[in-house]
Amino acid sequence: MAIPRRSFFKNSSLLLIGSLLVPVTGSSCSGSGWNRNDRRNARTGRLILSYKPYELHLKHAFTLATSSRTTTPVMITRLEYDSYTGYGEASMPPYLGESHETAAGFLSKLNLSIFADPFLIEDILEYVDSIAPDNYAAKASVDLALHDLIGKILNIPLYKMWGLDPARTPNTSFTIGIDKPDIVRQKVTEASGFKILKVKLGGSNDKEMIDIVHEMTDVPLCVDVNQGWKDRKEALEMVIWLKEKGVVFVEQPFNREDRDNTAWLTANSPLPIIADEAVQRLKDIPGLKGVFSGVNIKLMKCTGLREAWKMINYARAAGMTVMLGCMTETSCGVSAAAQLSPLVDFADLDGNLLISNDIFEGMKVVEGKVTLSDKPGIGTDVIKDIFR
Ligand code: MG
Repeated sequence: MAIPRRSFFKNSSLLLIGSLLVPVTGSSCSGSGWNRNDRRNARTGRLILSYKPYELHLKHAFTLATSSRTTTPVMITRLEYDSYTGYGEASMPPYLGESHETAAGFLSKLNLSIFADPFLIEDILEYVDSIAPDNYAAKASVDLALHDLIGKILNIPLYKMWGLDPARTPNTSFTIGIDKPDIVRQKVTEASGFKILKVKLGGSNDKEMIDIVHEMTDVPLCVDVNQGWKDRKEALEMVIWLKEKGVVFVEQPFNREDRDNTAWLTANSPLPIIADEAVQRLKDIPGLKGVFSGVNIKLMKCTGLREAWKMINYARAAGMTVMLGCMTETSCGVSAAAQLSPLVDFADLDGNLLISNDIFEGMKVVEGKVTLSDKPGIGTDVIKDIFR
């Protein structure tokens, strides 16, 4: 894209600093997180981006149809402007191709000094998107930090900025990964209080997984196959069986490229078939109409809140079911997604609950329901400041 021409150099008001290894000095970010009072007079007139790698530790090994792991690398971003600080996050499960190195490489290329106004969200994020292809999570980390910053400057949560009713948040599912029966039972026990469970299928024991969960709870289930099924007729038989077991939708049954089998299953299925791996960004949705019943939108896939907002509205206009998901993330990423949740049919926002070393506190799950905080921006507090 063409870089917007503005009188930005005149004030030299915005500065980008990447600090993978060298923390930004002179920061007044307190150990308890954002603190307006401490920083009331700290008018820098500059937008300062810094970033730090962090590794999430998972409470249980996370096993999908195609992989298993116990950690997730994330990059935490911090965007400072005058006396305000916004935080963002890039969560980068290895199978998606991003890493601490690629995120640092991408973020180091950004030069936000060409923008004189942090409220030019559309222009700033269009510029960020134009710097390099892909790098979806790294782009999302800037989008989140910018939205958090704007909300804090306005002193309102994002949902209020967008005119959304916090009472209309959905229940969130809690994910039960593919595992041995005793571990599955332990996970279901941990999930008591959730009003819907998401069961990972696509392994060798799909029916056993469902039966074990059903023995322990009668809450509705949704299933995520993570591209694990191959045969359309076996898939349809399975979907019919799943409906009898109280399953409410099926996510990504076949390989992301397998449009023929997916469209056939969607046309014949008694349950909605939701795209996850097959949908990345806004431009993907038009081609999925008629192939899937709905889309699972994740900030880390789609470059952040700005694009997610557009995707939700496009999918809605196309008559598709809308789901909001997440990766394993800190409460920063999950709380950001939660701000959009009054708009969606289903939420799968449990990524912060799957880790043992969160560094933010924000959105809560209360009696199974996404519950937004009234704090400004993304709605989080820092509980461990890794930038110190
Ligand atoms: Mg999925």
